[in-house]
Amino acid sequence: MRELRFDPIRNRWVIISTERSRRPSDYTLDGNGAKENERTPVSCPFCEGSEDKTPPEIFAIRKERSSPNSWGWRVRVVPNKFPALQIEDNAFRYGMGIFDVASGAGAHEVIIETPDHNKGLADLDVDWIKDVLIAFRERIKDLFRDQRLRYVLIFKNHRTKAGASLTHTHSQLIATPMVPPVVKQELIVCRENYRSKERCLICDLIKQEIEFKERVVYETKSYMIWTPFASSFPFETWILPKNHLHDYSMLDDKELRDLAVVLKLNLISLKKLLNDPPYNFVIHTSPPRFDRPGYPQHWDSIEFDFHWHIEIIPRLTTIAGYELGAGFFINPTPPEEAAHYLSEEMENNYEEV
Ligand SMILES: [Zn+2]
Ligand SMILES: [Zn+2]
Ligand SMILES: [Zn+2]
Repeated sequence: MRELRFDPIRNRWVIISTERSRRPSDYTLDGNGAKENERTPVSCPFCEGSEDKTPPEIFAIRKERSSPNSWGWRVRVVPNKFPALQIEDNAFRYGMGIFDVASGAGAHEVIIETPDHNKGLADLDVDWIKDVLIAFRERIKDLFRDQRLRYVLIFKNHRTKAGASLTHTHSQLIATPMVPPVVKQELIVCRENYRSKERCLICDLIKQEIEFKERVVYETKSYMIWTPFASSFPFETWILPKNHLHDYSMLDDKELRDLAVVLKLNLISLKKLLNDPPYNFVIHTSPPRFDRPGYPQHWDSIEFDFHWHIEIIPRLTTIAGYELGAGFFINPTPPEEAAHYLSEEMENNYEEV
């Protein structure tokens, strides 16, 4: 079963997906079973030579003359074997009294970032990371052609504590028939700001923070690494493009290479400063643009007023009862202090990038 159910009290959708576990005995209390520090396990489906252990690839960046689903790839995208949502599911939507149910039509893919089992994303060289970023772009563009889909969220879980079930470095994407609640909130705020002030909120924020300096961790010509004023998590950083653009999938290869530089610098600095912490990152970009004739114009259809960015969250604290019950986060490290430590670390690591 895969469907979305609407919670009328919390005003948000929840994905019910029984692919992975359903019985009490399927849940273990010690994480999801990934053994860390495992070196080239025979059974790893993401290693080179094990291409037949995954569903057939959807996209790959490979050496010339290498054929799909065989050796010779740099970055490989495959469907998740246990998808939360699936493209083949029929689209439906119906009411059940006060409740609403929608189809689980969507996509759940895995982006395998390298054939090398023993390297993390931070260890890959800049041109390799650029290829991973290109794979993200190409998948977003391709999935946005499907008019049933309203959003594609790219994310990464690094290490078991951050939700990774396989140690071989990879990111994932989930495409949904609705805009996810966190993104929707950001889109609404940016749009309201744009409508009342005719300026982009995030462009204003970047200008102000560069002047103020205290929370700016690193700056290049095109990007700024920033610890948010109200960071929910210790050492949380955002990568913000200095030029206004709503849609990540519009970036060209050169712009993605510039992004790979700051992403690598951010990740190796977190790795060294915090002893290879578990982390998550997400890309927040605008929903697809549906400007084909006859397509209904939803509130979320053309989001020029949004400003895409990446949020990187080291998982150093646990989300506990208060956070779950209140929605308030308690952050023990002020973002100004985090920025200070991180910018020192980035100075040390710049040569490596
Ligand atoms: Zn592997
Ligand atoms: Zn902007
Ligand atoms: Zn965001």
